[in-house]
Amino acid sequence: MTRRADEDELAAREAEALDRAAAARDADRDADRVVSPLADADDRVIETALRPKRLADFVGQQRVRDQLSLVLESAVRRGRPPDHVLLSGPPGLGKTTIAMIIAAELGMPMRITSGPAIERSGDLAAVLSTLTEGEVVFIDEIHRLARPAEEMLYLAMEDFRVDVVVGKGPGATAIPLDIAPFTLVGATTRSGLLPAPLRDRFGFTAHMDFYQPAELEIIIRRSAGLLGVTLRDEGAAELAGRSRGTPRIANRLLRRVRDYAEVKGNGVVDRAVARAALELYEVDEQGLDRLDRAVLEALIRRYGGGPVGLSTLAVLVGEEAVTVEVVAEPFLVRRGLLARTPRGRVATPAAWEHLGLTPPEGNTGPGGLTGPGMATLFD
Ligand code: ADP
Repeated sequence: MTRRADEDELAAREAEALDRAAAARDADRDADRVVSPLADADDRVIETALRPKRLADFVGQQRVRDQLSLVLESAVRRGRPPDHVLLSGPPGLGKTTIAMIIAAELGMPMRITSGPAIERSGDLAAVLSTLTEGEVVFIDEIHRLARPAEEMLYLAMEDFRVDVVVGKGPGATAIPLDIAPFTLVGATTRSGLLPAPLRDRFGFTAHMDFYQPAELEIIIRRSAGLLGVTLRDEGAAELAGRSRGTPRIANRLLRRVRDYAEVKGNGVVDRAVARAALELYEVDEQGLDRLDRAVLEALIRRYGGGPVGLSTLAVLVGEEAVTVEVVAEPFLVRRGLLARTPRGRVATPAAWEHLGLTPPEGNTGPGGLTGPGMATLFD
């Protein structure tokens, strides 16, 4: 496989795992993780206040911003709604924020819904048939839209028309209904799951990437300003490095550290306070939490780096296999600390080093993996 294909494969697997993590969160498995990229109830409340309102205030994602600003400006000049926009990328990177910015830049109201919320095509027809001209419709998790609703959307996106079916069985008739021209903004963590006809109807597609620490620092400083937190630059840097490239996590860590600074210190977040607070919350320098480290510890200290089967690993860390797989592993794989191989999970040399250990000499398999039998693992 080429490097690019490798990365795509990795991204797809991470996206799939995150989808399942969302289900795990619903089942309360992921609920109190301070490093989860998924929003909890507290996040939802506070995020409204922290969202940048205009494109100029949106940090990072330079290419997306540049392209989008062109699309929006030319639409405003022509006085017509812009192309439909598809935003793809992992949770917590700013898809909802961008959707809101699009509406704000166009000076238009926005309707928010999501794939799972639209159970029947009638639900979608109710939204579309009551739009005013130029309105922005945001459908989060658009890959989870039910099939009939998806088909209704094709026609709506292309011809600004919906067919409302009246009656049942052989007597059913479709009544075409014109709807106001609108802009659809779809967001998905799994663009690979979108059927081609739907994907093709978006005139503009943007992929959001994880953020660099320097960008996260800016985001954290901005949020601190809005929350009234006194934050020193080194404090911001300390938080940025542990935020897993994700603004949502950065904002959450900031709030936890602020609480700590207020209770244990004088309210100022400097490097020492940030470190002490994150130690208390068990988030280490790379953003790994207790479960992430337990997985690596079990692999390395009990099995010399692996390979170890998922179910054994889960027993060792006292969690269910699905929790290890969907909650802990994706980030460890992305960070290059863990590899999934046909014979089980393997700790990479970077994982040994992260735990302050020296990886064993020799026995190095493809990709620099170590562990008993690694050399023959991919034969
Ligand atoms: P998504 O829809 O991709 O899950 P959101 O748009 O809800 O992500 O963003 C999560 C949080 O992160 C929000 O509070 C938002 O303010 C913040 N955020 C995301 N991207 C940025 C950014 N580029 N600049 C500033 N804040 C951001």
